[in-house]
Amino acid sequence: MTEYQNPSLELRARVALDKHGFHNSHSLGQNFLLDEGLLNSLLDAAEVGPEDRVLEIGPGPGVMTGLLAGRCKRVLAVEVDKGLEPVLADVLAGTENVEVRFQDFMKADLDALTGDEPYRVIANLPYYITADIMLRLVTAKHVPESIAIMVQKEAAERVMSSPGTKSWCALAATVQSYGAAEVLVDVPSEAFNPPPHVQSQFIIIRKHEVPVVTPKDERLYLRVINAAFAMRRKTLANNLKAAFGLDQAAAVSALEGAGLDARVRGEALSLQELARLSDVLCDLTAG
Ligand code: SAM
Repeated sequence: MTEYQNPSLELRARVALDKHGFHNSHSLGQNFLLDEGLLNSLLDAAEVGPEDRVLEIGPGPGVMTGLLAGRCKRVLAVEVDKGLEPVLADVLAGTENVEVRFQDFMKADLDALTGDEPYRVIANLPYYITADIMLRLVTAKHVPESIAIMVQKEAAERVMSSPGTKSWCALAATVQSYGAAEVLVDVPSEAFNPPPHVQSQFIIIRKHEVPVVTPKDERLYLRVINAAFAMRRKTLANNLKAAFGLDQAAAVSALEGAGLDARVRGEALSLQELARLSDVLCDLTAG
């Protein structure tokens, strides 16, 4: 009789989840992807290659992690649920280029995690934190080369929206200042275990090779973006007054200095206009 030596990662994960009596946590959004065919097609679409260092956020039972290990140079996986430790140990046994850290990614020191070398991000996370995770990554000191992430279809539409449309928002402006977003794969609910009640899309955001905006002060620019979308029914002048403690005359003069109408609403502004306004405010606060 020949012994079955090399079970697939999917089988290893199913056996390990069962063996360790793992129960998916709804509050941690644990809808797992175990189908290697599907996961390989996601990695093909994201063009993960042998030179890549990958930060995987939320590896779950580690099927994607194991596939990544076979494709790229090094994987650092950050998982919040310590209950997955024995599962990941079984699934990734014998895999040398993977390190798993058990911590909440939102509280992790990103610079300490990623070091100085270029890195790419892969993530299938609970949908209630995908926006915060994207914001954290695209505003980091050391940004990734790309972020391939599973999101709810509506979130993908928001991230890819254009200025002046209903969906244009602080998330879109911040993400698009960093890179260009594209939908790679529509992933059916049945692919997840258990299936979520929403439609999912695997998207990639690739860092701009040449920045589309170069504000004088990046932090101030991000504050201007947040101010622009703070209260949608108010004019931008009113939002600037609230966010930067300006009086009416100073707010109007900042807008006019940036070549904008004094009655404009924040959600009408392009990235270049937001950056121009940020530069005017930068000069104002410096002077
Ligand atoms: N990537 C795996 C897959 O595709 O099967 C798991 C996906 S599951 C939707 C989300 C994973 O993210 C879970 O393993 C969950 O425990 C983990 N997670 C949730 N919040 C997290 C956080 N703040 N930091 C790190 N991991 C988190």
